[in-house]
Amino acid sequence: MPSKRKVAILAATGAVGQRFIQLLQGHPWFQIEVLAASEKSAGKNYKAACNWLMESPLPKEIAEMPVVHTDVESVEKAGDVDLVFSALPGDLAGPVEEEFAALYPVFSKASAHRMDKDVPLIIPEVNPEHTALIPIQKKRRGWKGFISTDPNCSTIQLAMTLKPLMQFGLKQVVVSTMQALSGAGYPGVASLDIIDNVIPFISNEEDKMECEPLKILGTFDGEKICPADVVLSASCHRVNVKDGHLEAVFVKLEENPGIEEIEEAFRQFKGEPQKLKLPSAPENPIVVRKEQNRPQPRYDRDEGRGMSVVVGRIRKDPVMSVKYMCLGHNTIRGAAGGGILSAELMVAKGLC
Ligand code: NAP
Repeated sequence: MPSKRKVAILAATGAVGQRFIQLLQGHPWFQIEVLAASEKSAGKNYKAACNWLMESPLPKEIAEMPVVHTDVESVEKAGDVDLVFSALPGDLAGPVEEEFAALYPVFSKASAHRMDKDVPLIIPEVNPEHTALIPIQKKRRGWKGFISTDPNCSTIQLAMTLKPLMQFGLKQVVVSTMQALSGAGYPGVASLDIIDNVIPFISNEEDKMECEPLKILGTFDGEKICPADVVLSASCHRVNVKDGHLEAVFVKLEENPGIEEIEEAFRQFKGEPQKLKLPSAPENPIVVRKEQNRPQPRYDRDEGRGMSVVVGRIRKDPVMSVKYMCLGHNTIRGAAGGGILSAELMVAKGLC
């Protein structure tokens, strides 16, 4: 077992940063060393800097930790760090993550570097072979560290369900999302905008859902990722649910598998995290529910400690080939839990 790595969390006070703190409590490989956030929070202790929103109490030792400003010098002064989790806002993450990557492995939840040609966009069960971009990136950029990114929260659960369908000749995907409020961060959407309402627009979300899966499902040719030959169309909507994105997915396949065959493909789907028994890996990355009215966010988002994607209502579609619903916990599998699993994969592969 690898020795414990000391980690810094950038944007530790936000919805995703808090989830990182919660999930890293008692982690066998990682321990929290430095918490960083904006100028507004720097200099305060964590308890004073953040409005703790997790279901479990704020751990005492974290409450008293100082929050430092998000820059390399402040983080270096605050502790001896081995790797960095970044939950920075997308528009800030670009140059800041690059500065950190010159020195440290950076696991990013932000969108800034996801589509860079030499940066892997990882879902550990789906495309672990894309970690081969890391040595290429380090050499090209002359960095001691690197940047590894995770997909957008609604893309992760979709791509996890598309991967086992590739064997049937996946050609087209239409997806319509019902996305939780915590996906917009904190304080996020104003209460008067969302009570008694659905908002049929989430800025930049559809573009991300239409292009990120092509990279994730693409193949590594020894130098770069060649995108998958699939066309996607997404429509994204914010709904009055705290956590858990629900998606209605319609797929066109070249072959004509039966519903039971598709169910079995979802059930059998496992990857390197399960083989390597990584600490955050769920036993079943995809859980199939047979009830007519599942999955539902309130009842199913915590499946596999929030790391499993729950699929249900798998049926034939008269326009496409097959349709189903899928649900994932957006701040666990879709954010902090996914980031931690990616870091575990890299540690297990000896990349950091
Ligand atoms: P959030 O709740 O709005 O939190 C924003 C965080 O960014 C806070 O910690 C804030 O610190 C920090 N921050 C703001 N301006 C900063 C600055 N100038 N320098 C340093 N830190 C700064 O947002 P979130 O939901 O946690 O999202 C964080 C990132 O994860 C975003 O890139 C988002 O797209 C991505 N993401 C979110 C989800 C989700 O479900 N929420 C899922 C996947 C990916 P202060 O408290 O000090 O202002």
